[in-house]
Amino acid sequence: MINALTYLTRRCPNKCSYCRISRERVQEMPPSDWSRAWSILKELGVTFNLILGNEPWILGRDLPTIMQHNQTPFAMYTSCNTLLYTAYSRSYFNSFLDNFSCAVDYSKDYLHEKAFHVDDMERKSENSWFLLRCVKEDYPKVDCQGLITIHAKNLEQVPAIVKDLSDMGVFVGVNLIHHARDDQTDFAPTKEEMDGFLLDSDFDHPRLKKIFDAVKAIPNNLVMNPDYLDYDTNDLIRKKYHCLGNPYGGPTIDADGSLRCCGYRKGKLTRTFHIFDLPKRLEQWKDAVMEDAMGCAGCSWGYMLMYHKLLSDPEFGKKVFTKHAIKGLEESKWSQRKIE
Ligand code: SF4
Ligand code: SF4
Repeated sequence: MINALTYLTRRCPNKCSYCRISRERVQEMPPSDWSRAWSILKELGVTFNLILGNEPWILGRDLPTIMQHNQTPFAMYTSCNTLLYTAYSRSYFNSFLDNFSCAVDYSKDYLHEKAFHVDDMERKSENSWFLLRCVKEDYPKVDCQGLITIHAKNLEQVPAIVKDLSDMGVFVGVNLIHHARDDQTDFAPTKEEMDGFLLDSDFDHPRLKKIFDAVKAIPNNLVMNPDYLDYDTNDLIRKKYHCLGNPYGGPTIDADGSLRCCGYRKGKLTRTFHIFDLPKRLEQWKDAVMEDAMGCAGCSWGYMLMYHKLLSDPEFGKKVFTKHAIKGLEESKWSQRKIE
């Protein structure tokens, strides 16, 4: 089991005020170059690629061109921009795309109460609920996932979000909010920018434990990373976990083709490599990731933790990532994907 992560673009039409990763302008690789990158992932034996944008759908008609030669199972996140969905959903779902993954951070009831007074972040969740319902109705075979980023303002809503998504047949990922602890963590805003969102380890960890217990008690829940609910909540909040130099086995590709240490960190050494340096400079790249990662104070990132946990049963692990296999859930309810 070898996983990768790819940022196809840093552009996003939503321009959320707190978004840090979109602040740096990146010269995107030409669409035709991605076929070479996909061949390299295949050659490296990558079994799953997590594709992020910021908003891949902003690539419009180039996105099918970019994806046409991909042979690696993937999940592609979208920020659920309704205009992009209207413009491209039919052509994407009828060609390369059989997955719809997005962020769902607020419950339906909460958003209903806020009505027209939602902020950037809440509007994103509002669009996610709306578009997940559209996909479920119009493209029932498309594999859907909602990722909940847990923070101080949505903590109590998490069980309701899990229940409603599961009832819709949408798989659920859970992850804790992260902030930048140094200048290398370009994925997340700084502590100051996240004022009011960060959980306090001493005060919040028993509450988080109670919420995790409530989620575990939801019958037929579709949480795809249930192990996350069993970690020590104090350690999760304190970001006490570490990839030990191997975030998830394979490379992290940025939109310009350069490599990153992991999805959260760019890394000083790793970013001097390009995906086209692999597999020729494989050992040097691994050393660079190791050195960059060892300069990191740690994280509680669900993708990394899941990968490491599932290494004990890699054959099942591959199915978790590619088709949302969940122990105890009948196999007929896992997703059937075009590329497995
Ligand atoms: S939707 Fe996500 S990627 Fe887009 S601007 Fe907002 S936070 Fe950034
Ligand atoms: S511990 Fe590893 S995976 Fe987590 S942020 Fe640091 S370098 Fe990335």
